[in-house]
Amino acid sequence: MTASLDISELHWMLDIIQSIDVGVVVLDRDYCIQAWNSFMENHSGKTASQVARESLFSLFPEIDQPWFTHKVETAIMLGTRAFTIWEQRPYLMRFKSYHPITGLADIMYQNVTILPLRTVNGTSDQVCLIIYDVTNVAVNKLQLEAANAQLQSLAIHDGLTGLLNRRHWESCLEHEFARHSRYGTPVSLILFDIDHFKQFNDTHGHRAGDEVIRQVAEVTRQLVRDTDLAGRYGGEEFGVVLPDTTLAGAARFAERLRAGIEQLQITHEGRTLSCTVSLGVACTHDETAGYNGLIEEADQALYHSKSKGRNRTSLSGAERP
Ligand code: GH3
Ligand code: MG
Ligand code: MG
Repeated sequence: MTASLDISELHWMLDIIQSIDVGVVVLDRDYCIQAWNSFMENHSGKTASQVARESLFSLFPEIDQPWFTHKVETAIMLGTRAFTIWEQRPYLMRFKSYHPITGLADIMYQNVTILPLRTVNGTSDQVCLIIYDVTNVAVNKLQLEAANAQLQSLAIHDGLTGLLNRRHWESCLEHEFARHSRYGTPVSLILFDIDHFKQFNDTHGHRAGDEVIRQVAEVTRQLVRDTDLAGRYGGEEFGVVLPDTTLAGAARFAERLRAGIEQLQITHEGRTLSCTVSLGVACTHDETAGYNGLIEEADQALYHSKSKGRNRTSLSGAERP
């Protein structure tokens, strides 16, 4: 803007400021409002005359005053623009969103430019805020992030039980085994399988069978520690990887799991059902043949539990009772 701006130029500049689709606010050094364009009137519901000379902070108590004044004072001191973006703070002033695309956005996401206004002698006694409505961009990005997170979760979890799926569970086991090889910390593995499940399906139906699988998974999820990795290994077979756990520790956990599942009372379509599981426990040792070898050892122990009458825990190798 030049000093020789005549009155007609001033008029059309004001027209532009009134009709652009961004918020324009001018504040004095006490944060009182000096200018307020139509965008601000429309979105705040407050007219320019209502807000004139009022304090920004008393009109909009949601503004974080220490943070905002620090930003503005720094911009004035340096004589440069400052910006706030929605990723850091969703908005400066809480406006309702006029983009009800999804339930995600009921507020207007905003980017704000803080522009110190210089007088002819170079001092800044006013500051201009330019407020951009970035709700569309923000909602799209948030939706994309939510969809990505959901896809990622679907890719690693089993649909029926919510436990890790076999592929991801095995890659976790491989990772833990690599850690064991590097640092020598023990890793234990429990494999378990629901007893006489085929007969269960035949008697009560496939849907009842599904409910049993779900509940067995739920008990497992409740009993494992945060660092343990529980997965659905196959139809009615499950695996738990226990990092930093010895065979004796894993055996104690396996027994708790066995007892927990045995006590389950599953109600399905008015009937109370129960089931048992057989478990096999293995732990890394000097001759473990990779993570597949550990699975093999746990599987053999599980087979031993089946052959000894089911609803029991067996330990792999020499330690087997
Ligand atoms: P065992 O005590 O020796 O383990 O006997 P079992 O009957 O449990 O063993 P088997 O492996 O012969 O049978 C497993 C059955 O599990 C066969 C299959 O129809 C059933 N099954 C596998 N996946 C699912 C599932 O997702 N839902 C249901 N309802 N049944 C399943
Ligand atoms: Mg079975
Ligand atoms: Mg089976």
